[in-house]
Amino acid sequence: SMDKLKSALPVLDQLQRAGYEAYIVGGAVRNHLLELPISDVDITTSALPDEVEALFERTVPIGKEHGTVMVILNGTFEVTTFRIDGDYEDHRRPDSVIFVSDLKKDLLRRDFTVNAMALDHSMSVIDYTGGQNDLEQRLIRAVGDAERRFTEDALRMIRAARFQSVLDFTIESQTLEAMKTCAPLIEYVAVERIIVELQKLLNGLQPSRGMNTLTVSGIVNYLPYFRGWQEVLLLEAPMSLEVYIAFHIFKGLADMDGMRSLKLSNDSYRTIKQAVAILQQLEQQEEFTMERLVYHYPLATIEACQKLAGNQSDAKAYRQARRIHSRQDIAVNGHDVMTHLKREGGSWLKVMLAEMEDAIITGQLKNQPDAIMKWVDEHGEI
Ligand code: ATP
Ligand code: MG
Repeated sequence: SMDKLKSALPVLDQLQRAGYEAYIVGGAVRNHLLELPISDVDITTSALPDEVEALFERTVPIGKEHGTVMVILNGTFEVTTFRIDGDYEDHRRPDSVIFVSDLKKDLLRRDFTVNAMALDHSMSVIDYTGGQNDLEQRLIRAVGDAERRFTEDALRMIRAARFQSVLDFTIESQTLEAMKTCAPLIEYVAVERIIVELQKLLNGLQPSRGMNTLTVSGIVNYLPYFRGWQEVLLLEAPMSLEVYIAFHIFKGLADMDGMRSLKLSNDSYRTIKQAVAILQQLEQQEEFTMERLVYHYPLATIEACQKLAGNQSDAKAYRQARRIHSRQDIAVNGHDVMTHLKREGGSWLKVMLAEMEDAIITGQLKNQPDAIMKWVDEHGEI
């Protein structure tokens, strides 16, 4: 984590040599002080976006209107001009930003004290909000008046629960009280932003703590789709949002209908449906369940569902041992079967091929033309 921070020093140097201020900010500072891994190092500076671009050879204008330029210099760094937020319309993210000249204002617009610290070039901590103290006490505390900050941008409430889960922190009591008061404002937040935070929350160290906060604060009653659930389960193990949803559908606590309001990708919807099917099959404990699962579904989804079902089978080994990988691998095709039986195609053929496929993947039928045709003769009475 120290190496990652040090890799940002040349960027700070170059900005400072040109007469600008520059600091490492946000999650990198927090995780460094907690001795946790650092995902990306964000930099804040007094230089304006055009000035940043002029100073570095390789840059990408990833969000110049809100002050962000990506700098590529032995790694990639998001360099953002000191800014405060413009007007907040409708409790969402601000419509505009205002560039400012000092670091303090930039730190004070940030969401939580533990996210509102900066590191200078000599790795000294700059902390105007008591962030270090809150880190020691493991507290998530809004910067300034919590109600006001949640009214500006209601997503911050879900972020509080996210950091609680990811860091295993406690939400400071006034911050939690403000979440109860401001819960209805969640309805104004774009669902795409909510999903990003929920994914991180559920994948955190303590998803049950984070989900418990969303429940006791009443926030779940304002979340699209979740509001319709009969119960929101507090599951201890980290998992993806898709598997979390699937488990509720499997338990009969949530409905497939209404899921579309989450605006997830088609991949995510497919994963949810597959996970529901996997959970049902694991529950039935039929012979050959694992052989069937590894043939039809992705390994990662199977393994996530096994954890929930308390199933210990070695899915990787079953996957390795697959006899065929797809229908193309079957030693005969539909046309061969029609010729052999001298029959026109039809729905009987679809059914027979599906049964044949299942007999092969479960090892009850050898994937070999003679054996298959013998099996076809015996099953020809469909
Ligand atoms: P992670 O390790 O998950 O990236 P992070 O703290 O870097 O955690 P980000 O979502 O990447 O979180 O945000 C970067 C920083 O920007 C935060 O640390 C915080 O200072 C600030 N920030 C992000 N979102 C908001 C928000 N909605 N309101 C106020 N400040 C925010
Ligand atoms: Mg970050």
